[in-house]
Amino acid sequence: SIQALLDTIAQHVDPLLDQGRVASYIPALARVEPRQFGMAFAPIDGPIEGTGAWRTPFSIQSISKVFALALVVAGDGERLWSRVGREPSGSPFNSLVQLEHERGIPRNPFINAGALVVMDRLLSLAGDAAGAVLELLRAESGNPAVDMDPEVAASEAAHGSRNAALAHFMASFGNLENPVETVLDAYFRTCALRMTCEDLARAGLFLARHGLRADGSPLLTRSEAKRIHAVMLTCGTYDAAGDFAYRVGLPVKSGVGGGLLAVLPGRGVLATWAPALDPRGNSLAGLEALDVFTTRTGWSIF
Ligand code: GLN
Repeated sequence: SIQALLDTIAQHVDPLLDQGRVASYIPALARVEPRQFGMAFAPIDGPIEGTGAWRTPFSIQSISKVFALALVVAGDGERLWSRVGREPSGSPFNSLVQLEHERGIPRNPFINAGALVVMDRLLSLAGDAAGAVLELLRAESGNPAVDMDPEVAASEAAHGSRNAALAHFMASFGNLENPVETVLDAYFRTCALRMTCEDLARAGLFLARHGLRADGSPLLTRSEAKRIHAVMLTCGTYDAAGDFAYRVGLPVKSGVGGGLLAVLPGRGVLATWAPALDPRGNSLAGLEALDVFTTRTGWSIF
């Protein structure tokens, strides 16, 4: 059964929890106990199952970038792609180097520069961009208690020089519509969203349902959902996207809080959380857990 498989995976990854390092750029993440692992599987047509710390809230960080992207694609269709590329960067998530060559057009919407452009567009579309992402997460997870961690949001801003540099650099090329400070504030607050594997797996189900929300209404067309899956597969885990495709074979989005969101189109969503990261900023035990899950079940997109 899925429950037995999840429990086996939790045991299997246990030795990995001592390897890697938790994100240390802000105190709220640096003090997270590394020996934690949670995993949830939400099928599109059945009850959710989970193991370990699957009901412990954690900072979802860059996983929020998928939800922001979905809202902008829902509002704007293809228009976003004149301002953001959709090629894997092969670079770290906060890299500045490609932006100059590409004249302020970020390589994809999941590196920080691209996510800042997505936030900028969402501000124009929704007014309160971070609030719109929060509302989507609450509605799709069915948990109105999902919220932002104010300490994390404040620390993101206090340690946000690199993101500020990215935003100003893009603004210098005319690739932001709103004031840099407004974009950064929305970005930092969105990074500070906090939820459990259970909430996250449920919240991602609209992707597995090819764009259909929990209430049955369409957020995305089938084709838009396909495109978001493709960008997750090629760009969702930064310069490790090739390794994730090789080992997991699913569209995945990672965050430096140690979470991973993986979509099984037409079938369900997996969410994992293990705070210790590999050098590229992805959860070490989470990657192994997804690898074992897709290898044992044969459920990948390949
Ligand atoms: N808050 C982090 C940053 O902007 C998010 C990065 C991530 O989760 N990969 O640097």
